[in-house]
Amino acid sequence: KNIEGPQMLGHPKGLFYLFFAELWERFSFYGMRALLTLYMVNVVFEALVTRDFAAAAVYSSYGSLVYASTVVGGRISDKILGFRKSIFLGGILMALGHFVLAIESDMTFFLALALIVVGNGFFKPNISTFVGSLYKDGDTRKDSGFTIFYMGINIGGFAAPLLCGWLGREYGWHYGFGLAGIGMLAGLIFFWSGIKAGVFMDKGLPPSEEALNKTVLGIKQKVLVPILACIAAPIIALMLASYEPLLNGESFFGDQNIVNVLFKGIGIVILLYMGYILYQASLEERKKLAVALFITLFMTVFWGFHELSGSVITLFADRNVNLSIIDAAQTNALNSMFIIILSIPISLLWTYLARKKNNPRTPYKFGMGLLLAGISFYVLALSGGSADENGMVPFSYLLIMYFLLSVGELFMSPVGLSKITDLSPKRIVAFMMGIWFLSSAYAFQVVGFIGKKLAVESTGSEVRGFATLDVYIGGFELIAQYAIGAGIIVFILSPILNRWMQNVH
Ligand code: GLN
Repeated sequence: KNIEGPQMLGHPKGLFYLFFAELWERFSFYGMRALLTLYMVNVVFEALVTRDFAAAAVYSSYGSLVYASTVVGGRISDKILGFRKSIFLGGILMALGHFVLAIESDMTFFLALALIVVGNGFFKPNISTFVGSLYKDGDTRKDSGFTIFYMGINIGGFAAPLLCGWLGREYGWHYGFGLAGIGMLAGLIFFWSGIKAGVFMDKGLPPSEEALNKTVLGIKQKVLVPILACIAAPIIALMLASYEPLLNGESFFGDQNIVNVLFKGIGIVILLYMGYILYQASLEERKKLAVALFITLFMTVFWGFHELSGSVITLFADRNVNLSIIDAAQTNALNSMFIIILSIPISLLWTYLARKKNNPRTPYKFGMGLLLAGISFYVLALSGGSADENGMVPFSYLLIMYFLLSVGELFMSPVGLSKITDLSPKRIVAFMMGIWFLSSAYAFQVVGFIGKKLAVESTGSEVRGFATLDVYIGGFELIAQYAIGAGIIVFILSPILNRWMQNVH
């Protein structure tokens, strides 16, 4: 009775089209990300002594904006475009961004990143919510539907760094970026074929014809949104390019660029607004919402260390890890590889423990996730002890690090996603989802902070401004301490959080 429309392998048929669309979108996203930092350090900022610093600043701004834009894209989809149109608009902009990166010009670099920022804002949140909408309320298959979807994300995230990394190395950066763009087009074709096959039934259509055709400034909203998206791109490009004054200390905001300042401002507004929401909620709701906010905060800390993989850890792999079969860009595939291997066993573990009435409650899983992140960085710090005379450490440390970090991710990310929906009152669940995505955006501020710190410490210690092994090892040790500290704090808070969660497990 809970099932409607065409089914396949025990799930709505539409899931499989969304699975492949998202697989290819993530292929493009992670294929490009695997090359990004190396490309900046070796090409875009090649002439700068402070190249590591500039790359860290731009990577952080890009990452923050690419996740923050999802809040706007989700909202516009709810109010005006609907999922389908939003996903098309986002996918086209992302493909454009990747193809602009494939053009051999430094001039267009920031514009390309900006197109991906805007495109991702329209694509990513809406395809995730689209998956949820394929299931009726209370359909118990929804969790496993999301596990399958997370698998698609990581199949893309696994294959892309290997292929784009290889193309980048053998034929040139721009071929790698070009393949990412082709991947995005493949995603759109899968999505389009799903619509043609009618598997989405009436899902994902615009909320109303009136909203689409309502005119603002004499232009229909359905035309106005793409126009504004195109206008936003060059503005965002300028924000991304605002790293320059930082390099010589001329920035009005000290060592902060416009994006850093913007995120501080947004943070204050969100905190005030959350205070207002908590104030308005009933006592029961208030406790659950407080837990939702805490787990979002813990998630931010976790991603703040996890997302170093595309920047600091890729550079570390490039300069200080003995690699033979794969290169530094390709090490970006390791996280997704472990997620693919581990996601089914770990979700079976939760089901098994739940049957034995022993499934740990969410705060404990989050505490474990942070501890695992801490241990993973500790392993990476230990690698320094096995460095050879050229300062190169064995690959096995990096492999174990990614293994532990991926287990931690599975203890937190999928669990948190579903708990946010359980802990938030229905009237603000979409808003809370936005806050959840913002945790990744803020995480990139942490990533930038760490990346810039390491770069500053190493500037002058080497002609080319590269971080030296001891700078990296010291950094990893500190990160390990912070992550383990955060994990311990979560364990200390857990009894209270468990009580506040009430009937939610
Ligand atoms: N790897 C996941 C994805 O790409 C989550 C990444 C994140 O939220 N920081 O969807």
